[in-house]
Amino acid sequence: MTAPYHAERAAATAAVRAAATLTRSVRDGFDPSQSTAKGDRSPVTVADLGAQVLVSLALAEAFPHDPLVGEEDASQVTTDPAIRAGVERHLRACAPEVPFDRVAAALDRGGATGGPAGRWWTLDPVDGTKGFLRGGQYAIALALVEDGEVVMGVLGCPALERPDGRIGSLFVAVRGEGAWEEALDDTPSPARISVAAISDPAEACYAESVEAAHSGQEEAARIGSILGITAQPSRLDSQAKYALVARGDASIYLRIPRGGYVENIWDHAAGALVVEEAGGVVTDVDGRTLDWTTGRRLTANRGIIAAPAAIHGAVVDAAREVLATR
Ligand code: AMP
Ligand code: MG
Repeated sequence: MTAPYHAERAAATAAVRAAATLTRSVRDGFDPSQSTAKGDRSPVTVADLGAQVLVSLALAEAFPHDPLVGEEDASQVTTDPAIRAGVERHLRACAPEVPFDRVAAALDRGGATGGPAGRWWTLDPVDGTKGFLRGGQYAIALALVEDGEVVMGVLGCPALERPDGRIGSLFVAVRGEGAWEEALDDTPSPARISVAAISDPAEACYAESVEAAHSGQEEAARIGSILGITAQPSRLDSQAKYALVARGDASIYLRIPRGGYVENIWDHAAGALVVEEAGGVVTDVDGRTLDWTTGRRLTANRGIIAAPAAIHGAVVDAAREVLATR
């Protein structure tokens, strides 16, 4: 019998690997003309755009009827000649088969709305662009959602160290089939991963954003002290935080909402399934299940708590205590 989502998994992992080759080529010898700011002032680079082009075209070929909820669109390549030239240069080097006249359409194909019905993909082509820019962690995050449930998640982490000490990891989870880590570029030999085997929250260490604007670090520290946690938090950009929790290097991922911010679906779908399939529980800070049916944003949720099943409830209780004092 063929494994569930065999074709989807093959297409998604190949697309994420191709995108990672491109993002690395942009990162090596990075120059500031490869980056610009979006309307919301967040950074976007040639790597974000080139990676979305590659994944969008790969999915369009393999699954032409599946919509894509992608973070980027064609506005920068149509208005900024330096960005367009950069995208074309890196596509020529990494994927010479891609015709330039399909770049804008491939980017705009990511404009789907998602929602409760049917199946669609969601992509963050470079999650943690600020980490990418400073030479830190970033992730290429791709997930498949069916009738409101994430059924497959792929996280490419080109700058993350693997247990064997080499750099570049790929995480794959299929609902009901477990979570796996393999080399991003060497011969893949997937190893099953699982969350930290702890039952006392005091033994935990938690991961959080580098960017203080993305997660309340002071409130996270208060949650940690209620739980008796003494380890220093791990601060890293992107969904690599979910990857660390899924393989037990960090035990908890805390994302404490600031100023009413509503999370994007592509910032969480892939990572959340990787943690769940590794034995974790992922909810928002109020302990609510993440609701993937609300469109491009997680409007029914706020923040994130990901942790091993054995301690997740205690973390939610501590978060409730701290957030009640706001
Ligand atoms: P991280 O690397 O975990 O800090 O998260 C990066 C993501 O944070 C980006 O992809 C943005 O979509 C998202 N983001 C931007 N502004 C905020 C904010 N104010 N609060 C939470 N997340 C944000
Ligand atoms: Mg992102």
